[in-house]
Amino acid sequence: MRFPLALTAKIASHIVKHKLRKTPKFAMVLQLEPLHTCNLTCTGCGRIREYSTSLKDMMSLEDCLGSAVECDAPMVSICGGEPLIYPKIEELIAGLRQQGRVIYICTNGVFMRKKMRDYMAAHYGPEMEVKLVKLVAEKLVSEKDAEVIRKADDKARAKVTISPSKWMYWNVHVDGLEYTHDLIVEREGVFKECIEAIKMAKILGYQVATNTTVYKETDVQELEDMFSYLSSLEVDGHTISPGYDYDAAKKDMVKRLGKQPEDFFLTRDMTRQKFAKIEDWGKRFTIFGTPVYQEFLAGKRELTCTAWAIPTRNIKGWKAPCYLMTDGHYAGYQEMLREVKWETYDVVDGKARDPRCEHCMVHCGYDPSGALGTNYQSGDNWKNFRYNFGAKPKPYLEGAKVNAFNGVSIGKGHLAEAKAAINSPRAAANGAQAAFSRKADDHSHEGGGCGTGDTSQRDELLAKIAAKKES
Ligand code: SF4
Ligand code: SF4
Repeated sequence: MRFPLALTAKIASHIVKHKLRKTPKFAMVLQLEPLHTCNLTCTGCGRIREYSTSLKDMMSLEDCLGSAVECDAPMVSICGGEPLIYPKIEELIAGLRQQGRVIYICTNGVFMRKKMRDYMAAHYGPEMEVKLVKLVAEKLVSEKDAEVIRKADDKARAKVTISPSKWMYWNVHVDGLEYTHDLIVEREGVFKECIEAIKMAKILGYQVATNTTVYKETDVQELEDMFSYLSSLEVDGHTISPGYDYDAAKKDMVKRLGKQPEDFFLTRDMTRQKFAKIEDWGKRFTIFGTPVYQEFLAGKRELTCTAWAIPTRNIKGWKAPCYLMTDGHYAGYQEMLREVKWETYDVVDGKARDPRCEHCMVHCGYDPSGALGTNYQSGDNWKNFRYNFGAKPKPYLEGAKVNAFNGVSIGKGHLAEAKAAINSPRAAANGAQAAFSRKADDHSHEGGGCGTGDTSQRDELLAKIAAKKES
């Protein structure tokens, strides 16, 4: 099965309950953003701009747990910002578990190993020692950290920690192999850290999913290689969604500069090209996303946007109409359902009701449509049944041969390229600027969140490259 039986049963009974009650709109997944602070500054992360004035604010634990009760979504995706920075993340997860919810922790992976060491210290004993020895042998825990775990004091043992559970997934942000991923997150070494965290999590018995955004520049072959590699690590599933910039400023660029949209962002046609093989990937890898949504991405059918089923709650309230666009924040979920003019969004019969929706095919708008049967076609129920209850693809162990560490690990990180450019004006003109081309394209990063962070290293290099070119 794709998901543990208890999870599938929980979600199915939630849908059936609301169908029987004829509830017109209800929540399937709560996107909870307890804070917008982040330790990274991924290129184009939308949250950095949108919530730049409230990066230091955070939701109280009571508000976080209360919003899950309020919308009653069976699944909660804790995102942000980087949720592992949230000071009460352990208590939040424990509280959501008490409420019986399925939890996805959407993380950039950098603090995962620290959180798992806390868990090991709190539960240290003979069984944990066996795992610890393995983790040390595989260099996923240092000797020094292993000793800290073994000598855990009462305080460390009493700590609430994030334990493995069939109700919880680490959902690690991975946008490509090493070079590409580190470039997107604008820091070398992050890919390596993510992979080490994934390996450690699997040894400890956690469920791990990955979360990938596809951009205009994304190389489809690299995506396949990435899935092959992650499958060899026995990752439990992959969420994949097209990245999309709806920013009105882009429309302005069309008008003022005469540029075509496809020059700078992922249009619907381009998304369909990128996702042409998604159903094939679904046979080989455990893709999370209903078969109906996969058909939509591959251009085989149209769907109605059901953004109300994946509401976003953050420090400012319930964000409407969707994770990507903000036309307002509401105090309550029901108030948002009532007040938002849902009929003014979406693309219907090929025509965008709102110009900002024109090229959107994102998971948070359309994936629930497949599960809810909003555009039902004969055979969809069977497809959904097979997706949920059929055997999931086996790990692809050959994927271990993929050249995943093709960046900083072999001395070819993007910063090395930039440094080389500083010493070579010709290279600067031809290569290094291309490494940072995303800055100009400024793609929004759906599925991520936002934060502040230190871009000084990158900015300094860019400035030096620019100065060198001018001289
Ligand atoms: S179509 Fe996309 S941008 Fe428009 S409301 Fe739905 S999710 Fe949001
Ligand atoms: S996308 Fe935003 S929230 Fe996610 S890791 Fe990058 S900077 Fe942080």
